[in-house]
Amino acid sequence: MPAAPAVSDREGLSLARASILERIGEAAVRVGRDPAAIEIVAVTKTVAADRIRAAMEAGFSTLAENRVQERIAKAEAVDGGRWHLVGPLQSNKARRAIELFEMIETVDSLDLAQRLSRIAGELRPASPLPVLLQVNVDDDPAKAGFDPADLERDLPVILDLPGIAVDGLMTVGRLIETAALARPTFVALRALSERLRSRHAGLGPALSMGMSEDYPIAVEEGATLVRLGRAIFGARPTLG
Ligand SMILES: *Cc1c(COP(=O)(O)O)cnc(C)c1O
Repeated sequence: MPAAPAVSDREGLSLARASILERIGEAAVRVGRDPAAIEIVAVTKTVAADRIRAAMEAGFSTLAENRVQERIAKAEAVDGGRWHLVGPLQSNKARRAIELFEMIETVDSLDLAQRLSRIAGELRPASPLPVLLQVNVDDDPAKAGFDPADLERDLPVILDLPGIAVDGLMTVGRLIETAALARPTFVALRALSERLRSRHAGLGPALSMGMSEDYPIAVEEGATLVRLGRAIFGARPTLG
């Protein structure tokens, strides 16, 4: 019997997308949310340009890298897409980041917010740069992000910066053994967002939380952006 033709990469990615959309839909319905309010951010770190193109053909239109350098390396080979930065941004790369990304999800200090506002004001004066403020809601020493108390202190200044638009908050959960353990992190980010938004009209409602292992739980708890790498592209090569 001849071997069945291998599923093409694009077909595999389409299947992955359908299954993710189904799980997002089920999670949204469980809590009475509209599934259309949840956006998939396809995280393409370590993924080669041709697979990123296949993913875009399969319908993934919002994509992300966690390093500016990696986006630069693939930019020529990958046309289009709406790109988010989801990794730490050093201040000397702020200008390049604004040129290469539509949204920076990882603004984690007042300093960085001020720098981005200033450069975005030069590079794109007509439209403020959309950003999310990364919060370390678990108080995890291994994680980047604002301490919630610092965020409360700095938020009024950040919201007044003319070059950026703060669409909402983002968090990276702790490393955990089972997905259910991620829920308190998501609950905490949403509660923080609600509290801050009741006092600061300029803070947007976006919540970027949930990754491949736990995104249905994040959707149940209010995520508007889920950042998925392995659920789309499979396991990443382990770093040597
Ligand atoms: C790599 C990465 C993701 C995606 O992780 P998966 O577990 O592969 O879904 C999401 N967010 C950030 C910040 C990442 O660096």
